[in-house]
Amino acid sequence: MTTVVTRAKWGAVAPRNVPTNITPGKGGVAIHHVGKGSVARSDHAQCAAQVRGIQKFHMEEKGWADIAYTYLVCVHDYIFVGRGKNVRTAANGSNSGNQNWYAVCGLVGDEDTLGEKLVDAYKSAIVDLRTSGGAGRGITGHRDHVSTTCPGDELYQMVKDGALTPGPDVPPPWPGIYLSYPPIMRNSSVTVWQKQMRARGSSITADGAYGPSSKSACTSFQRENGLTADGIVGPATWDATWA
Ligand SMILES: [Zn+2]
Ligand SMILES: [Zn+2]
Repeated sequence: MTTVVTRAKWGAVAPRNVPTNITPGKGGVAIHHVGKGSVARSDHAQCAAQVRGIQKFHMEEKGWADIAYTYLVCVHDYIFVGRGKNVRTAANGSNSGNQNWYAVCGLVGDEDTLGEKLVDAYKSAIVDLRTSGGAGRGITGHRDHVSTTCPGDELYQMVKDGALTPGPDVPPPWPGIYLSYPPIMRNSSVTVWQKQMRARGSSITADGAYGPSSKSACTSFQRENGLTADGIVGPATWDATWA
């Protein structure tokens, strides 16, 4: 299962501004990679530092408002939150590209092995951007928007072959934050979880607010599924909700 690494967890610097003029429903998700050669880290403990380095490069060398990408995905099946949902990217190389397409960058170069965990992370990122980020159905490579070798020939072929296109059975990633009450927690991941609980027969409202009724539904669900009945949606409960 893919896990989201929040900006706080990877140690992001605050953005200079948050441009929200984006209409991703008109496009979808553009696929990127870091660059030439081999750049994937063998040890996941090193991935956060790699993401911090990319943010530093984009903000200090390029002068951009933030790291350019919406999400970054690693070969260990993690999603690092870049600009995040509903924020315009600076990665796609054209006005319409940045306005209509989210940008997901793999922490790989063109000589790295594109394994199953990386593919899973790309798919989870796309599912997440579609289910709670308003992304359209399109999946493109960076080179579809501007003249560039990105995302490398092998990854681009996977885009073209549909190898990164998620099937209906791909669950959205665990959002990297525990859904709990009290206090009432409101965010788009709560809505995603509530909708899935409703699809399983629960009568809770999908209002994006995790309060007493969500906690109670969660606790019952955990009891029925042999999980620790603490009323908190962590990775195991999130995963079981889509099992
Ligand atoms: Zn690119
Ligand atoms: Zn990693």
